[in-house]
Amino acid sequence: MIELFVRVAVDQPMPVLFDYRYALEQAPAIGMLVRVPFGRREIVGLICEITPTSDVPADKLRAVTGICEGCAPLSEAWIALTRFAADYYQRGLGEVALPALPQALRDASRWDRLFAVEPRYRLLREGRAHLPDALPARASALRRLADALAEQPWLALSDARALHPKASATFDDWLARGWIEAATEIIAGPEVTAPTGAAPLPVLTDEQRDAVEAISGAQDFAPFLLHGVTGSGKTEVYLHALAALLAARPDAQALVLVPEINLTPQFEAAFRARFAALAEGSIVTMHSGLAEGERARNWLAAHTGSARIVLGTRLAILASMPTLAIIVVDEEHDPAYKQQEGLRYSARDLAIYRAKQLDIPVVLGSATPSLETWWQAEQGRYTRLTLTRRAVAEAALPSVKLIDLEEERQRGRASVDGLAGPLIAALKTRLERGEQSLVFLNRRGYAPILSCDACGWVAGCPRCSAYAVLHKPERALRCHHCGWESRIPKSCPDCGNIDIAPMGRGTQRVEETLASVVPGARVLRIDADSTRRKGSAQALFSDVHAGEVDILVGTQMIAKGHDFRRVTLVGVLNADTALFSHDFRASERLFAQLTQVSGRAGRAGLPGEVMIQTRYARHALYQALSRQDYVGFANSTLAERRDARLPPFVYQAMLRAEGRTLEAALAFLEQAAAAFAPLPGADRVTVYDAVPLTIVKVFNVHRAQLLLESASRAALQASLRAWQPVLRSLKGVLRWNVEVDPLDV
Ligand code: ADP
Ligand code: ZN
Ligand code: ZN
Repeated sequence: MIELFVRVAVDQPMPVLFDYRYALEQAPAIGMLVRVPFGRREIVGLICEITPTSDVPADKLRAVTGICEGCAPLSEAWIALTRFAADYYQRGLGEVALPALPQALRDASRWDRLFAVEPRYRLLREGRAHLPDALPARASALRRLADALAEQPWLALSDARALHPKASATFDDWLARGWIEAATEIIAGPEVTAPTGAAPLPVLTDEQRDAVEAISGAQDFAPFLLHGVTGSGKTEVYLHALAALLAARPDAQALVLVPEINLTPQFEAAFRARFAALAEGSIVTMHSGLAEGERARNWLAAHTGSARIVLGTRLAILASMPTLAIIVVDEEHDPAYKQQEGLRYSARDLAIYRAKQLDIPVVLGSATPSLETWWQAEQGRYTRLTLTRRAVAEAALPSVKLIDLEEERQRGRASVDGLAGPLIAALKTRLERGEQSLVFLNRRGYAPILSCDACGWVAGCPRCSAYAVLHKPERALRCHHCGWESRIPKSCPDCGNIDIAPMGRGTQRVEETLASVVPGARVLRIDADSTRRKGSAQALFSDVHAGEVDILVGTQMIAKGHDFRRVTLVGVLNADTALFSHDFRASERLFAQLTQVSGRAGRAGLPGEVMIQTRYARHALYQALSRQDYVGFANSTLAERRDARLPPFVYQAMLRAEGRTLEAALAFLEQAAAAFAPLPGADRVTVYDAVPLTIVKVFNVHRAQLLLESASRAALQASLRAWQPVLRSLKGVLRWNVEVDPLDV
């Protein structure tokens, strides 16, 4: 027997493949999962190469101990995708490929149960002619196998193995000769019927139709930016484009990414309703909220091709989909597409790469595209498809009014605990008319600060350099960074003053105020605190849809995607802080967020109104917002970025370090920076000073970062790669990581 070696990727922080001897009966294939000894344990790895020789000395080589027979090999394209992600985000291939698999596949002890369906074999006429006569007279085990096949209609592999240890290899040989046939019970691909949803399809607007035609007509790699105002019916465009593709190609698969699937059950419902004619199991979801078994089943459905549509969050971008034919990224600007730990990837960017690799169309949809995407479209690299109007015939975009808090104050018009007079009046009018209102502010809890007037004490988290947030219903002080919690002190712990007072306001306080200033209104709060229990968010949202709520107050959770039919007023509080953030992306994010939340108003024909309370009514961002002028905002912000040499005109990477002390973290970064300088390509990369993070201490760990920047992506990539071994050799911190294209700078 020829000796074989396999090179295996494992989930270890090392950018290398590991060589193993391979002597199992089942032939190895690239992309198969294997069980291998690693240190004192056995772990699961992925075969990336098969070679007749190995440079590793024979006595150092260990052998593969098992192979996952039930799982068809991952495709070379899939391995190439994970290899690209690993290279680009400065990780090892195994660190990307294995975590992308469902947990059940990464645990070899569960393979048997996962793939309980085993292959079965049946003798064909051709086989009867040769078996057992063609077998050597003394091959008694082989003869027993042939006899069993002749006697039994479908012989299971495990039964065959009991007769002959190499039954699988023998069957492969007989299959090749056409003597037998094999069957597995793995779910067959679904029959495709043209979608004939029960509900009549809406008549597309001209703009929608043009967009669908452009997407459906695309051959090869074709990136589209679907820029459509809120309520313009982008979902309908996706549905039509997918329907056309899936009907035309019975094996084609589609991947649809959404920022947070738990928040968009209506999205899933729309897909299930529209594609009801596809076979059972043709639409699967993929997100971190799924139970493990379901996650594994859905992943396998995508991997075998039985799932035609995968609807998922960012992690679904690495799903194995052998016949993937289109990718849709809805709300492509959403920061949730960026993974913030482990492999810090952007699912949107990987979607573009994957589409290019597979030569297929990709659609990025948004009312407020990220400036990176907008810039690509401006340069003509992405085809822009524009929906300028709302899809529902009578629905216009809401009017946006700025309430100038400075002016209100000068004119002596009181606001009540942070709610300006005109907003209160508008809320009352809505209540009288039986319409719904939505009040948005991006801060949960009752008040961000609890302090003592007498001595200046402020409640802080003992483990973080952050204030403790007052939570009134829970009667607790809570740290939003580490989860620390304590009871609310009755008096100042420093001076004994009993007049300690909350400063500022969060959603809980606004909820309380609304109940008193708009008497009779049914107020509902939706934020991370009110929706902690699984399923509770959905229950609360259905109350809103059912009209059991007059005023909905909440954080960005209420801003995203929801198609509220009866909301006609949106109030925005406390938005100003983002205007003066040190993060250059803060204004882009604010514009997107306010556009999103404004988009919840007036969706079903009743005129919508948006009121934004601000001290900076003349700020360009608010001015653009009140004109609903994304294009103006995007182009002027891009011009500023170009002048200031910021992304997308330069490329960035961030090295972050966490130490027991700030000094340790900074010292690590400084050593790293010093070691960076002499590297090839480093001259085209700017290395900034190491600085503490804004919230420097979290859970007693001190954090600092070092920004790198270059006009050349290639130069940055090359020097990051060369830097890795240096970073690995440095000591003195608890943890460090490199983030490419960081979103929070
Ligand atoms: P977007 O995602 O662009 O904000 P949606 O896809 O949520 O918009 O669509 C907004 C609303 O318009 C939905 O209620 C949808 O059912 C409806 N809609 C979409 N297209 C049409 C159409 N062509 N005719 C009538 N209603 C439509
Ligand atoms: Zn005090
Ligand atoms: Zn804390």
